[in-house]
Amino acid sequence: MTAYVKCARLLEKMSSDGGSVIIVEDDSNIADLASAYLSKAGYSVRQAGDGARALDLCRTQNPCLVILDIGLPGDLDGFEVCRTLRATSDVPIIILTARSDEIDRIVGLEIGADDYIVKPFSPRELVARVKAILRRSTRMADSSSRIIHINDITIDMDARSVAVSGSEVHLTSREFDLLVFIAMRRGVALSRRQLLNGAWSNSWIGDERTVDVHVRQLRKKLGDGLNIHTVWGVGYRLD
Ligand code: CA
Repeated sequence: MTAYVKCARLLEKMSSDGGSVIIVEDDSNIADLASAYLSKAGYSVRQAGDGARALDLCRTQNPCLVILDIGLPGDLDGFEVCRTLRATSDVPIIILTARSDEIDRIVGLEIGADDYIVKPFSPRELVARVKAILRRSTRMADSSSRIIHINDITIDMDARSVAVSGSEVHLTSREFDLLVFIAMRRGVALSRRQLLNGAWSNSWIGDERTVDVHVRQLRKKLGDGLNIHTVWGVGYRLD
């Protein structure tokens, strides 16, 4: 699966069903309340009452986020679960700690939790934190896989592929290079010479109208999502 498809699916999943969240908490009142609010916000929620069950669920469900209580019954407390998860996964983790346990929060963040919430907490605050962390982790996934989004267009620089609304569109190598060059300079009016130098090479000698031909092809292939404007007397600008 290419990175852009993965990313598109992740975004689609997050906007349609919110993704799946695992709540690891032995106090069923807290777990049920948090589940109810997260379900209402569109997430599919699974609960685990101890560490072993939590690790099992994470292996089989591949959640987009884990909410993890530190004080758990059995051999594995929240710290152990967090360490074990971090050994193999970068799933976002929010730890739940008691008000008095500042040390828990510090240790939790040191061993790889992304955020913490102090009990008792407002379920609305929990939902807001979950949303914020998922937004952040999606952005990180985008930058690490070098993906550019322009309206309904997704450009995957590593795979050198382009999709419109999730469907791959074939571009020539030159068209792709021109698209990436202009997409990385959104809002800047670029001269035909700058575009030739950037997308072709500094040594390219030729007719600047070549750029016009390629821009026309990009507009045709990528549709209305690509707002390349002609800047009279200069060249082009992507808005
Ligand atoms: Ca507990």
